[in-house]
Amino acid sequence: MPEGICFLVGAGPGDPLLLTLKGRDCIERADVLVYDYLCNPAFLRYARSGVDKIYVGKKAGSHTMRQEEINELIVSKTLEGKTVTRLKGGDPFLFGRGGEEAEMLQAAGCRFEIVPGVTSAIAGPAYAGIPVTHRAHNTMLTIFTGHEDPNKAETSIDYKALASMPGTKVMLMGIDRLATITAGLQDAGMKAETPVALVRWATTAQQETLVGTLADIAAKAADASFKAPAVAVFGDVVNLRHKLNWFESLPLFGKRIAVTRTRQQAGELVGRLRELGADAFEMPTIRIEPAPNKREFYESVAYAHGYDWLIFTSPNGVDAFFTAFFEIYRDARDLGAVRIAAIGPATSARVHFYRFQVDVQPEKYVAEEIIAALQKETSLDNLKILLPRAEGARDVLPNELTRLGAIIDEVVAYRTVPETSDETGGIERYRSEGADMVTFTSSSTAENFHALDLPPHAGVSFASIGPVTSQTMRQFKMPVCIEAKVHDIPGLIAEILEFYSKK
Ligand code: SAH
Repeated sequence: MPEGICFLVGAGPGDPLLLTLKGRDCIERADVLVYDYLCNPAFLRYARSGVDKIYVGKKAGSHTMRQEEINELIVSKTLEGKTVTRLKGGDPFLFGRGGEEAEMLQAAGCRFEIVPGVTSAIAGPAYAGIPVTHRAHNTMLTIFTGHEDPNKAETSIDYKALASMPGTKVMLMGIDRLATITAGLQDAGMKAETPVALVRWATTAQQETLVGTLADIAAKAADASFKAPAVAVFGDVVNLRHKLNWFESLPLFGKRIAVTRTRQQAGELVGRLRELGADAFEMPTIRIEPAPNKREFYESVAYAHGYDWLIFTSPNGVDAFFTAFFEIYRDARDLGAVRIAAIGPATSARVHFYRFQVDVQPEKYVAEEIIAALQKETSLDNLKILLPRAEGARDVLPNELTRLGAIIDEVVAYRTVPETSDETGGIERYRSEGADMVTFTSSSTAENFHALDLPPHAGVSFASIGPVTSQTMRQFKMPVCIEAKVHDIPGLIAEILEFYSKK
């Protein structure tokens, strides 16, 4: 039996890019993933498919699994010879009971490793524009917990020690007893006017920050129903926030945007939206599958050199074509003198990726425009054209080309099927919370979103990449609030920015 190992991994404070490379490596290697509510579920996508994913909950007060059960779980899975990756919010050894889990593993004779993480104690303030240390303000940092054991009602915070300690203090947990804690600190001599900031769901697009003083922060938090999870920062450094509040100033900060795409492709749009501050999440609605009639497709690809033109209408078509091509041939020159047309820059970019040039790319990225662009180059009469496309694609392009005298061979290169699994929880999230915006980047995303039959949510804006997609959306009674002028991802992003800049 292989020897098991357990990695206790700090998953960072929430921003999915704040996971360490080593942490990601451990997720990729895992046979069993154990995670809780402070971990971003987006990380599950790094896992190999079919891996055992176990949610152990752990919101203060509403434990899905008790700590003893968690310990037992990771120990028993490791003893079974599995690679167990236990993801913990922030850093595993800072108030996360990571020390206890490591002790249990050690006592049971399990191999284990610790992968430190970016802690919310430092990253939380940083994302609120607060450096926990600053040469002009302090030389010490104290991190304490307002709740050393969530099962214990009382706390044994040493107020005297905290109040007399110079420098910044950061408190984790205990937001629900802020009134008691701030009163205790004042009684022990900490100045009433000490600046305090509370940062909730720090580093995520749901981040909220509340600023006050030691005297009034508890009342402010109660008024605003400010709830956990939050970090509290006490000290003069809080005043730097008015200059350094970079994250909450991002243009799409706080906007919840659901990105409907294939699982393979959601990354780019989600990544860009997150960089702009949005709470972007993937809703896998479709999945790309190989051509149902592989033989027919491969035959067309093998004879591609016998055509005058090869027209691509999507990046997926390009991938399907060249994957097949290089399975059949070893030499790029076997494509012969066929010329290549591509609809839109994303499709062209995919062609370039395979080191082929695009001879024609229409100005506007809709099928109809390609005909005009081709006609500029050549007469269509008797022109032999190969058109690798998605199953069920629109007939406008082949029909028009045939009418103009071209000889078209249309071949199904791939098909899109509804995605039924919801590994990162995006569909469930939309079902329960809705979103400010949902983006559609192809007709099939709109069609399959519709097929999911999700509950209507008020105030959702639907954004489309272009007129063809918009047409499908309208067909399903989805109001098109935004349509990109340039029909690609940067064009869609530009339009979203424009939309929110006016709001
Ligand atoms: N090991 C974790 C802390 C676990 S204790 C770390 O290093 O960050 C749980 C507490 O961490 C929460 O009650 C809250 O105070 C804080 N916390 C974790 N993630 C947070 C986030 N994204 N925003 C604000 N506080 C967070």
